[in-house]
Formats: sequence, C-alpha cells, structure tokens
Amino acid sequence: MSRSAHPAGPRHADVLPEGHYSAPPTDLNALDSKVWAETVTRDTDGVLTVGGLDVRRLAEEFGTPAYFLDEDDFRARARSWRTAFGDDADVFYAGKAFLSRAVVRWLHEEGLNLDVCSGGELATALSAGMPAERIAFHGNNKSTDEIRRAVEAGVGRIVLDSFQEIVRVAHIAQELGTRQRVQIRITVGVEAHTHEFIATAHEDQKFGIPLAGGQAAEAVRRALTLDGLELIGIHSHIGSQIFDMSGFEVAAHRVVGLLRDIRDEHGVELPEIDLGGGLGIAYTSDDDPREPHEIAKALTEIVTRECDAARLATPRISVEPGRAIVGPTAFTLYEVGTVKPLDGLRTYVSVDGGMSDNIRTALYDAEYSVALASRVSEAEPMLCRVVGKHCESGDIVVKDAFLPGDLAPGDLIAVPATGAYCRSMASNYNHVLRPPVVAVRDGEARVIVRRETEEDILRLDVG
Ligand SMILES: *Cc1c(COP(=O)(O)O)cnc(C)c1O
Repeated sequence: MSRSAHPAGPRHADVLPEGHYSAPPTDLNALDSKVWAETVTRDTDGVLTVGGLDVRRLAEEFGTPAYFLDEDDFRARARSWRTAFGDDADVFYAGKAFLSRAVVRWLHEEGLNLDVCSGGELATALSAGMPAERIAFHGNNKSTDEIRRAVEAGVGRIVLDSFQEIVRVAHIAQELGTRQRVQIRITVGVEAHTHEFIATAHEDQKFGIPLAGGQAAEAVRRALTLDGLELIGIHSHIGSQIFDMSGFEVAAHRVVGLLRDIRDEHGVELPEIDLGGGLGIAYTSDDDPREPHEIAKALTEIVTRECDAARLATPRISVEPGRAIVGPTAFTLYEVGTVKPLDGLRTYVSVDGGMSDNIRTALYDAEYSVALASRVSEAEPMLCRVVGKHCESGDIVVKDAFLPGDLAPGDLIAVPATGAYCRSMASNYNHVLRPPVVAVRDGEARVIVRRETEEDILRLDVG
C-alpha cells in the first residue's frame, strides 16, 4: 500500500478500474466472521444485530454515525493474547488504537498492561485505575511535563527514544529521588507491512535510535552510567498490519545481537526485549490474520533460538498489539443520505460521516468492506464507493464495494473492523461532530464515549 497515493485513491481516474472487486460476492447479505465482531449476526428479519441488539433500534437510540463495540469480543481477544503469551511474557495493549476509561477497566480486569504515548492517554489510564506499574510510556518527543508526571505516577517503564530523552528522563528521575525503569527503542532497519518486509542497514524514520553506526550501543552506554535510570531492555517495533512473521526474525536477530554486544562490553544481560505491535487483522475477506497463540509461539521460538545462538538467557518478552485486539471488535453504523449512479463507472453512496470518523482510507489507502445492515436484499450487486459528507473529494470510507442495487436513502450500512485508529484518529473537520462509541454486551448497550455536540465545539471557540 502506498502512502503517497492520490487522496481519492489510485483508481480515481475515469476508467472502470481493475481489481479483486470485479467479481461480486455470491451472497451480499452474508457476514464473513473474519471481519465482523464475534456477536454480530442477522436476526430472523435479516437485520444486523450485535450483542443481541438490532441496529435499527441502536440507530434510533444512539443516532448515526456511531461506533458499536462488542465488549465480549474485546475481552475475549484481550484474554487470548494474555493466555497465548502466558506468565513468562507481557502483553501491552497499544492505547493509541482506541482508549477510553471503560477500555482501561476491561484491560485491567483481563490482566493486560497498557502503552500510552501522551499526557492525555496517561491521564485516561490513571483515572480509570490502571496500576501505574502496568503502564509503559512511549513517544518520540515526550515533554518534560509528561515525563515528570509519568515518573511521579510510577509508570512501569518509559521507552526512551533519543539521546536527549535519555538525559532528560534521568535528570527528572534523579530530581524526584527515584530510579526510572526504562527501555531503549532502537531501529533495526526492518520495516514490515502485510506480507512483505524490507530489511536495510539504515532506517529513515523519526522513531528510535538506529542500531546502525553504533548509535544504539552508544545510547546503552550512556543509559547505563546514569543513576536516575534502570535500563531493563531493548524495544523494537517494525510496522503495522503485519501477517508474515519473517520481519520479526530479522528484527529479533538484530536486537539479540545488540544484547550480546552489551553483555560482552558491560557484563550485563538485559532482562527484557519488547517486539512491539503491528499484528494484522482482517479488514476484508482477503485478509487471513494469524491467531494470537500462533504468533506467541512463533515469536517465542524466534527469540529463544536467537538467544541460544548468542548464549544468552532468553529475556522476558513483551508485545504491544493494538489493532489486533480492538480493531475487529467494532463497526461503524452510517445512514445512507444519497445514492448517485455515475453511468459506466460506479455508484457513489454518501453517508452521514466520513473522513472525520475514518481517516484511514484517505491516509493509508486502507481497504474496508461494507454491508447493508438495516435489512437484507435480493437485488443485484452494484459497484459502489462509500463516501462521506465532507468538503473534500478524498473523503472516501470504502473505495470499492458491492452493495445491493436497491440501496436507498435511509438504509443503514455498516463498515466492520473500525475499532482501531478510527475514533482515536477522528477529527472535527468541517465542524462535524465526532461519533459516540457504544459498548454492547448481553443485550445491553451503553455509551462509553459520548457523541460530540455543537456546544462542545463552541466551548473551545472562545471568540
Ligand atoms: C502503534 C504501535 C503499536 C501498536 O500497533 P498495532 O498496529 O495497533 O498493533 C505498538 N507499539 C508501538 C511502539 C507503536 O508505535
């Protein structure tokens, strides 16, 4: 996937594009369990339901657009990551995928740890009762205020991202009369995405300290000399939406090489290694993600093998899935406003949200699927582009999808797998109000993040 694509997508030219959608699915009403949350199904009338609740009633009660999150599914996924890695490893949920106080409580109850990367995420975690020692603080430019608050709160680890930050955190910890547990984030020259990875000597990105040129080794040297720091491990995060484990093999090989060098130079064996997140989910039926237990087995084997070869005791592993836990648990429910067929091209279906509630299609050329939710239909499939209501032609939610040919204004359509990086990246573009997140469980629905109001917007505007 290209990140420099035309905002309207690579297929914005006025030719009927080629692609896998050229064959419509055999049954437009079917729900592929890979892309829908666990409890999503159709009732006897054909209406989509989640947690036993009918989306027509949910739309009446909570309005559209709205994100509906399947709490049981979230908990089950969190738990399966936790049990897959067992007691010898730690799972940190990456809060940036989607964070709210309810989510923090679920994570706490299911025994997961939490990654935060800003003062706001830290405040959310602490206010919902996540024990500070189970929080990791990330980011390439944490402010001194954020660092001070994290150290004061007693977070379990701060992941250091630059030479300046090594000194900054050490100084603040010393000032506060404490020793902060830290990891150093390094870049190993591996960038992984879906079924590919590239491995180079250097990595051209803002995060981490390069392994190349001895910079990471120098960072370790400095961290080890500073009284305010307790260096507990090395961190590496290689990409996003990854299906193939081979990028992790190269990354682990290089990280373990550094651990070996540290032992040889300083006589210290660092006790932890963090392999980051980035594990993929199914956005469409074409995606085949692996189960957490397969991932846990693969990663543990990789690290153990590399450590055996380097004659190091295997460090404690941690991983940081975000998308893989929350992504599949939610869908966005929209109401269709207009249906505009363009002869010989496709039909534009406009919904009551758009790039303000899902920026991923415009930003990453991401693929999504979509289904008619308020009813079933036997009409012929029509090739559609689901677009939002924003003043921007790149405002696309689903680039290419088949919906029934009788789709009409007032129908509800649902886009699955929007639990990660949709509400958390939502904006107020065009002063559109950010949708609520409604958690559904056992026939009950409750708002966990309320819909924004015009008063909210006007309150920030102080004239
Ligand atoms: C974004 C990020 C994650 C989570 O990525 P997912 O793709 O949501 O799993 C984990 N760790 C770090 C350091 C990240 O930046």
